[in-house]
Amino acid sequence: MELRDHHLYPSRFCLSPNHDKRPDSDDVSLIVLHNMSLPPRIYGGHFIEDLFLNRLDAYAHPYFLGIAQLKVSSHLVIDRSGDVTQYVPFNLRAWHAGVSCFAGRARCNDFSIGIELEGSDEDAFTDIQYQILLPILQLLQQHYPKTAQHPIMGHEHIAPGRKSDPGPFFDWNRLQQVGLRCLN
Ligand SMILES: [Zn+2]
Repeated sequence: MELRDHHLYPSRFCLSPNHDKRPDSDDVSLIVLHNMSLPPRIYGGHFIEDLFLNRLDAYAHPYFLGIAQLKVSSHLVIDRSGDVTQYVPFNLRAWHAGVSCFAGRARCNDFSIGIELEGSDEDAFTDIQYQILLPILQLLQQHYPKTAQHPIMGHEHIAPGRKSDPGPFFDWNRLQQVGLRCLN
């Protein structure tokens, strides 16, 4: 695995239109972990990608009516099989965190990298997801050293009360076991 020109290799790349420039392109200083599944707790479909590409069929599932109009993205998605898709280059701003705050700084999208794990607050993540995630986190910290100065955060930590992911099934110990600092 390697990182060149703000892209992760080898991984599938599929540019989401839901991105823009960071206010300070040199300020990439936080990694935020998420979970999502569409529909919730249904795995393996194409609906996350559809959402990130603004082509989610609002009528394909009742849940989609409320979200199909959202303009969201993340830098990476790691699916249940450990396959990685990159939707936004790391130097650009993905739209994953929403209203959020880290260490007194609002708008975490400005300075963070967002990683979605296909999952939910009610299911364990797969072992292969951790096996893929951990070296990605280490690689990102090497390439964006400011991210190593802060603990790896969950969406639930930077938007408490509003967001609950990656949720109670995410095993933060597995990060700590390889020397990655996180909150828990
Ligand atoms: Zn999230």
